[in-house]
Amino acid sequence: MVFAPSSRILTNCNLPIIRALCVKDFTMSVGMSLAMKAKQPKQKRCDRCELYTPEASDKCIHCSDLNESQLAQLKAQHQETLEDNSTFGKYLLFGSAIIGLLLLLSFL
Ligand SMILES: [Zn+2]
Repeated sequence: MVFAPSSRILTNCNLPIIRALCVKDFTMSVGMSLAMKAKQPKQKRCDRCELYTPEASDKCIHCSDLNESQLAQLKAQHQETLEDNSTFGKYLLFGSAIIGLLLLLSFL
């Protein structure tokens, strides 16, 4: 029994055998996207703005056309983004801790 990948996606997942195939497809697509990520071009860190830029381009994609004051602005903006991200990460951690606690309580 051979399904074309596209028809398998269209098939609903009600039958156990189909569900197993769907899970397999899902695992495969996750694996594929991981492989795609690994294939992405290498990046190097720019000395001037400390952001990552593709190794293939000789000029930095972030700061090559900025003057010094614009560069300072970019750096400040980037720093803010980093701080926002870490706050967001703390909220996520807090949320997952609460969910974990609820799960634990539901078992008691
Ligand atoms: Zn740069």
